[in-house]
Amino acid sequence: MTLRIGVIGTGAIGKEHIRRITNNLSGGKVVAVTDIEEASAKSAIEQFGLDAGIYPDDKTLIAEGDVDAVLVTSWGPEHEESVIAAIEAGKYVFCEKPLATTIEGCMRIVEAEMKLGKQLVQVGFMRRYDSGYLQLKEAIDNKFIGEPLLLHCAHRNPEVDTTYSTDMAITDTLIHEIDVLHWLVNDDYKSVQVIFPKKTRYAHEELRDPQFVILETKSGIVINVEISVNCKYGYDIQCEVVGEEGIAKLPEVPSITFRKNGRIGSHILMDWKERFMDAYDAELQDFIDAIRKTGEPNGPTAWDGYIAQVTAEACLKAQNSGKKEAVVFLEQPDFYKKNLKPANV
Ligand code: NAP
Repeated sequence: MTLRIGVIGTGAIGKEHIRRITNNLSGGKVVAVTDIEEASAKSAIEQFGLDAGIYPDDKTLIAEGDVDAVLVTSWGPEHEESVIAAIEAGKYVFCEKPLATTIEGCMRIVEAEMKLGKQLVQVGFMRRYDSGYLQLKEAIDNKFIGEPLLLHCAHRNPEVDTTYSTDMAITDTLIHEIDVLHWLVNDDYKSVQVIFPKKTRYAHEELRDPQFVILETKSGIVINVEISVNCKYGYDIQCEVVGEEGIAKLPEVPSITFRKNGRIGSHILMDWKERFMDAYDAELQDFIDAIRKTGEPNGPTAWDGYIAQVTAEACLKAQNSGKKEAVVFLEQPDFYKKNLKPANV
């Protein structure tokens, strides 16, 4: 059976996902769209030649009998309501990050799913599907580099506009590291600290940039992440794991090596969308395949969305206090204890 998908929010990432479902992936079809701007939903249908209905809002789209699964790609604060409505209707949900913008909102989603007694939700933490991170995970899980001791990471963007604020460095940028790094080392966070180094002259007046985040796990692994969103030179994601027996590092994005004007060099990506293109394809293909094969999504769960939000809120607290802040989770319910590994890799 083809998975019939409804898309809630046809902005930038909504349209990107519609494109990949329609042109690149198999087993899924976009049959319904909605956006608060009807013109945006219409343009998505025209742009991708969809045979899909336009719905006035998320609730009517979710209620449509021909929709098996929904993609929640609207603005973050709207996610919770759409995800809970989908769960209550028994529909599968792929929700872009954040799952919800508060810890309480994430918990309401977790509780709704547990009440139903079936996992329906996958959160769009696509880095778990990136081949580089998967190779790093294999090196850690196989003990190739021994026990991980510390990680040096960087998340650099060439520039941001004046709507980007200091807290967004955590909630929009670091959130990807928050999810992928504890998954990578199979450990939970215990504390966080945020240090503000000397400010770059390229940051706008209100923005504190760069930021240096230190996350410590329960077993004592120390992870540092540099966030620089005005680094100018490119979009650059770095991750080096220092283990007891050796070091493993995320591969560089392949690029030709050129020799010109007395220099050897290679290109660095400028646009974040290109860096994880394959991972976006893989996460959505896995969502479609797992539901078709097993009746349950296989990727990051609503509980992972909760973990990310708790950690992000501790980082926000640490930004303001300048101190090390504890990260305190509720105990993971048995309902979410399963070995998660992308099915198609
Ligand atoms: P965007 O371009 O602003 O798109 C959001 C769209 O949803 C807009 O068209 C918005 O309309 C619409 N919308 C808002 N509330 C809605 C509702 N209740 N029902 C239907 N449509 C609604 O933003 P985006 O960049 O695509 O981001 C969307 C989400 O994806 C965000 O949560 C973002 O954090 C996440 N995201 C994730 C990644 C990733 O790497 N995984 C990358 C990019 C974005 P208006 O414009 O009229 O408000």
